[in-house]
Amino acid sequence: MTSGKIITGLTKEELEHDLLELGEPKYRASQVIEWVYNQRVTNFKDMSNLPDDLREKLSKIYRITDLTPVQDSRSNDTTKKYLYQLHDGRYIESVIIPATTNVNGNRSSRQTLCVSSQVGCAYGCKFCASGLDGFTRNLETSEITGQLLAVEEESKKKINNVVFMGMGEPLANLKNLMHSIKIINADWGLGIGARHITVSTSGLAPEIRKIADQPLQIRLAVSLHGASDDVREKIMPINKKYPINDLIESLQYYNSKKKHKVTFEYILIEGINDSEEQAKSLANIASSLRAKINLIPYNKVEGLHWERPSEKIQKNFLNILIKNKIQATLRKEKGHDIEAACGQLRLKKERSEMTKAVT
Ligand code: SF4
Repeated sequence: MTSGKIITGLTKEELEHDLLELGEPKYRASQVIEWVYNQRVTNFKDMSNLPDDLREKLSKIYRITDLTPVQDSRSNDTTKKYLYQLHDGRYIESVIIPATTNVNGNRSSRQTLCVSSQVGCAYGCKFCASGLDGFTRNLETSEITGQLLAVEEESKKKINNVVFMGMGEPLANLKNLMHSIKIINADWGLGIGARHITVSTSGLAPEIRKIADQPLQIRLAVSLHGASDDVREKIMPINKKYPINDLIESLQYYNSKKKHKVTFEYILIEGINDSEEQAKSLANIASSLRAKINLIPYNKVEGLHWERPSEKIQKNFLNILIKNKIQATLRKEKGHDIEAACGQLRLKKERSEMTKAVT
């Protein structure tokens, strides 16, 4: 039997296998899955087409999900952030970002969920709150899929776009990431198409190759934030392990295997990575990989000293990219007023509990 005891951490095949071992017919797995993902029941007692003794047996062995909602906060720009407690008392967060207009200016029904993949993070990117208290642990598959179910339940909205850009480095939790994506993508599961699932990485070159080798056409975003090693190292310690040339080679491999080209995320930080020289180097890198670029003005993080550049500098940086025929956008950061940069709400909660414990 699989070790996972949370239904939302199992694929349909794994649940079928478990139920066969319990002496039940395979079709019971389809019935349970129908209740969990279509009817959204959270209790085995409510699965009315299962025999009573099976409902009792299942409720002794499994739980359906394992996240406890703690807090939510809404920003003025319609993003909403949810904080969840895990079975070991740790916290994670998810942010829903409703799009009101699409790139053509038409109304869009896109509901994006920014999902966490780890508790804390070991990679210590200098603009990010998630790494401030270091890494605690990987999320289990059920703790990843559970974020979608829990936010849909609380928001009463159907998520149709998922970005792994919350707390943690998703590619450092590759096994559970890919397992959860199977469930998120499956028709019997959350039914979200692979091209509506984006994994964002700080640049783990070997894992980028592994993502390229897996069959699903999910999208990849890379946090670049510097177009030369000296600048990128100031922002992203991972660059010492996988310098820009290694990263580019892994992305060339990715391009050779995938239809969708990669997107670079580039946070503009005043006086650090916003020079014209960096813009030109960035254009060269993006052009060689036919990559798109999202420029994001720096979002202030409590405890960090950097500032966002003036609008004039932001626009000048964008114009250099566009003149070099790069597909680039300058993003208006959503969720600025609810601390939507990854890890900030959870960090506050954990620190306030630590303060309570000390006083
Ligand atoms: S940006 Fe991502 S990889 Fe970097 S510290 Fe934050 S969570 Fe970790």
